[in-house]
Amino acid sequence: MKLVEEKILHDSKILNGDVLKVSNFLNHQLDIQFLNEIGKEFFRLFSDCKITKILTIESSGIAIACIAAQYFHVPVVFAKKSKTTNISSDFYSEEAKSYTHGNHYSAIVEKQFISPNDTFLIIDDFLANGKALHALFSLVEKAGAKIAGAGIVIEKTYQQGGEKLRENGYRIESLARIASMSPEDGIKFVN
Ligand code: 5GP
Repeated sequence: MKLVEEKILHDSKILNGDVLKVSNFLNHQLDIQFLNEIGKEFFRLFSDCKITKILTIESSGIAIACIAAQYFHVPVVFAKKSKTTNISSDFYSEEAKSYTHGNHYSAIVEKQFISPNDTFLIIDDFLANGKALHALFSLVEKAGAKIAGAGIVIEKTYQQGGEKLRENGYRIESLARIASMSPEDGIKFVN
């Protein structure tokens, strides 16, 4: 999606450790008009899939999922990364490794929010090694619900998470696909 590529080129910064900083519009300050166009595009891509719920993971996925949900007219569920006292003891949990923090965490969703009758669209901001997305797919599968696919704003295709998950049969739609990025050569997108 040209809009996402242009936003990345004009408004992001490459940090050490293969991290693209998008705090200006996606990860800290939120550009709502931009998110609205993303929500519309996810709806265009998945409108024929009879989505009944959107699943994302805290924290940056939440805003994107909420705006997209207004087009699908479905609830948003977000996986929590820590087991707070207000989570009931009846939950699904899946281990994942955080790309940006380097630590391991449990992605947790209360069982009452994933039913076998649901068809999920999974939304996240980035796809790198695929750990977060894999955890979300597994949570839905544990509950016996269906997965229509995943909508990702920025995929770094050179990190192969997307390739592996697609090989396993998942539909993943990424709006911007970065083929390479470095401070010296800048950002190159997949054609
Ligand atoms: P993965 O689990 O696919 O390795 O990484 C995806 C998760 O890590 C996303 O939910 C996102 O929060 C974070 N992430 C991965 N790469 C980047 C990046 O280049 N920039 C930012 N800001 N977050 C990233």
